[in-house]
Amino acid sequence: TNFTDLGLSAPVLKALSEHGYETPTPIQAQAIPSVLAGRDLMGIAQTGTGKTAAFALPIIEQLIKHPRQPVRRGARVLVLSPTRELATQIAESFRAYSAHLKLSVAIVFGGVAAGPQVRKLSNGVDILVATPGRLLDHVDGKMLRLDQVEHFVLDEADQMLDLGFIHAIRRIVPMLPHRRQTLFFSATMPKAIKDLADGMLTDPAMVAV
Ligand code: AMP
Repeated sequence: TNFTDLGLSAPVLKALSEHGYETPTPIQAQAIPSVLAGRDLMGIAQTGTGKTAAFALPIIEQLIKHPRQPVRRGARVLVLSPTRELATQIAESFRAYSAHLKLSVAIVFGGVAAGPQVRKLSNGVDILVATPGRLLDHVDGKMLRLDQVEHFVLDEADQMLDLGFIHAIRRIVPMLPHRRQTLFFSATMPKAIKDLADGMLTDPAMVAV
């Protein structure tokens, strides 16, 4: 299969070819059709498998298929990442894949001044990539609302638990609309992760690579 067969549109295909992507990786070939169709997803995959594009590409397609102005202080897509490094990479991937589209991407993580992050959020964004603690700071400070999220990605769930983010995640998920698409990724699937996933996914497609 190639990216055209997967149902991606011309501006996205152009960005992919400019970044030297020729063939979808296995997780991309397996995940993209289900995510494009709007299904929830449980993905068991490590970094390096191409999992970022596996969720970012079909999310971008859905955003442009249903264009909508982000609500003030809201986001259409929320990606939770355990570390600022991974969050930065994910945000850069969204920016690269949407280079020929008008989508806004913001990033929120701790350890830096909050002011610039808040200013970027004030008009709302299409895509927000965040670490859980700083995200909650902005929500608690009324700088960010989560009730407009259409697509929610929890990346590296096992790392999230190892880093002690479980309580933050358990606070964040109930603030999201019940009607949303949820994509859940973890490199491993011990019982604690499986239970967390079961509580936030509805009839997920399963992909393991
Ligand atoms: P990830 O597993 O999402 O961290 O991606 C690992 C690396 O593979 C990143 O540098 C991506 O830019 C790259 N990559 C992802 N998918 C493809 C693809 N289909 N073709 C070429 N490179 C890719």
